[in-house]
Amino acid sequence: MCGDEVLMVSGSDEHGTPITVTAEKKGVSPEEIAQKFHKINSKAIEDLGISFDLYFETSHENHKKVVHDIFLRLLEKEHIYKKVMLSPFCSNCQKFLPDRYVEGECPHCGHGNARGDQCDECGRTLDPEELIEPLCKFCSSTPEMKETEHFFFKLSGFQGELERYVADKDHWRHNTKNFTKNWLESGLRDRAITRDIKWGVEIPLEGYDDKRIYVWFEAVIGYFSTSKEWARKTGNEEKWQDFWMNETCKHYYFLGKDNIPFHTIIWPAILMGYGGLNLPYDVPANEYLKWGGEQFSKSRGISISIPDILQKYDPDQVRYYLSINMPEIRDAEFTLEDFIRRNNDELVSTLGNFIHRTLSFTQKNYGEIPEAKELTQLDKEALEKIKTQVEEVSKLIEGCEFKKAIKSVMELAHFGNRYFDARAPWALLKENREECGTALNICCRIVKALCISMSPFLPFSADRLWDMMGYEGSVSELKWGEATSDIKAGQVLSRPTPLFKKLELKDVEEKAEEKKPEKEEEITIDALKLRIGEIEHIEDHPNAEKLYIMKVNFGDEKRQLVAGLKTYYTKEEMQGRKIIVVMNLKPAKLRGIESKGMLLAAEDKSGIVSLLSPLSDEDVGVEVIGRESEPGNKKKQISFSEFQKIKLKVGTITQDEKADIGIQILGILGGMSTALAGKQFALTFVKGQDEVMPLVTENGGYITVHRPVENGAEIK
Ligand SMILES: [Zn+2]
Ligand SMILES: [Zn+2]
Repeated sequence: MCGDEVLMVSGSDEHGTPITVTAEKKGVSPEEIAQKFHKINSKAIEDLGISFDLYFETSHENHKKVVHDIFLRLLEKEHIYKKVMLSPFCSNCQKFLPDRYVEGECPHCGHGNARGDQCDECGRTLDPEELIEPLCKFCSSTPEMKETEHFFFKLSGFQGELERYVADKDHWRHNTKNFTKNWLESGLRDRAITRDIKWGVEIPLEGYDDKRIYVWFEAVIGYFSTSKEWARKTGNEEKWQDFWMNETCKHYYFLGKDNIPFHTIIWPAILMGYGGLNLPYDVPANEYLKWGGEQFSKSRGISISIPDILQKYDPDQVRYYLSINMPEIRDAEFTLEDFIRRNNDELVSTLGNFIHRTLSFTQKNYGEIPEAKELTQLDKEALEKIKTQVEEVSKLIEGCEFKKAIKSVMELAHFGNRYFDARAPWALLKENREECGTALNICCRIVKALCISMSPFLPFSADRLWDMMGYEGSVSELKWGEATSDIKAGQVLSRPTPLFKKLELKDVEEKAEEKKPEKEEEITIDALKLRIGEIEHIEDHPNAEKLYIMKVNFGDEKRQLVAGLKTYYTKEEMQGRKIIVVMNLKPAKLRGIESKGMLLAAEDKSGIVSLLSPLSDEDVGVEVIGRESEPGNKKKQISFSEFQKIKLKVGTITQDEKADIGIQILGILGGMSTALAGKQFALTFVKGQDEVMPLVTENGGYITVHRPVENGAEIK
């Protein structure tokens, strides 16, 4: 809109280990997963009104060609060399564990769940061998270190050049600059850029069939390969050079803070090594947008899907909230309450209200945009305000300060409302129709300025408004300067409709409920991996009133658990106690602290809570199963919602080998001795639900409650 030529490209990065991990879990090919998400992402981007010139994918042959060209040139220029290294190898799974296949403690910040390639907590990139107490992602066994040959990118050779490159980047965001400087100050190390894996871009040399180029080396090349692909598709194959070889062309990279080093160090170093291509001009990295205190992460399954949210809300409602709440300087929180409040108070009551009252009053009383005659002082101030505000929006967008830019648009809407109230056209109309027309002309100029300056943020609404004002075409085709130009009197207005819709929290909750869970296979106790553990250490959670943090010993491993038991148990009561733990529950962060597993407790209707524990003394690490359980049905990992589908209750054994679960007497599968009559046990339901089965240890011992609860108490 400013008249500059712009190429906007990106794509789906399809070679990450999250893809292969998902594929292996689902038993399908990585291609299938990659294709599925590429389709979903492409459509979501389009539905959100984001217009890439090309949104490509890194599994495309033409991307691979470009990667091979860069790899070979860097090899030829000796920026890439071969070296034998030690890499974690799982002898149980019989494979090397690159990147996300291995998890352990971060050597830098101590975060307990860092992955082999990066720590989400401190943002550092890692090599798998740096992890403390590494575990195989699939089987949780401890990998051994095994020799393997890989190609290394000689990043250390770019230290000086990168320092000079970063030195004049005063326009970078504080975090981008800081992060990069810290990296450079701690000294650059050469990095392995190949992996022992079969999904990814092949190495363009003989004899490396079992290895692939590391995703973070080749995914960033996607910006370049996509530009070339775009040029090819437009029929002018050399056109990419205008953007990559013309030094006046500025490159902006938009990303999250965990990706900073790949864009300010690794990618620039690759470009420097290759030679002759433009380096990033700005890397406006965002901080994290969090959901209920947790970090959104596609790979960890904490996400709101764009298709889902767009089924419920207009894209501009979503775009507005994401813009005004953008985590540019610090982390921001996404909550539905805040989303609704901002939609109602700002989009509807401020912006929408000013536009609607202007257009409906003008349309009703004049039918067209009236002429501006003699200007009062206030009118002149209003025209000045349009100019200064639009200029501010432009400057802020150019400086990548998007949150401030949309706030500046809203400031003009606030001003519009104040001006409208001050001029009081409803009163002025009766006194002086001409002066009223002048005021409305100025209101319409404000509306036009709003329409154009909001269009980068709210493109769908801007186009609807443009149409309501009687204009043709899309706002995106206009010149930005149109925002402050004169408005044509006599322009016929169509009958306006409200631009934005109010939302109610009630609607949001109902809509959330409408979303029926997908039909899933029946989940039983067989899916659970339960073990007896002993609480070795217990302490208060620093950020939560009701939570404890525990170190639990299972003999061959120790785990950290977080549990909300403070209301029911003192630390002394918990210390040293043997408990039953769900080992294969998806790890979760509770108020910032990771919990790897979940202990089982029973809660009855009167609110009494009791830990489950083995009836007789059992060693730590002993497995607990349903008596008739099918071995081999255990899932590698189950989600909390899956766990909730498994029915587990406390009941007493009666004299006739049945279970009294409070309201019902049920048969017992596998028969429990009547010698146990009167005692309470952990029971799980079997199909048909008129029989239950006791939970037993590997040694045949039973699981009971530590303090009495009402029969029928739910085990959670
Ligand atoms: Zn393994
Ligand atoms: Zn860390």
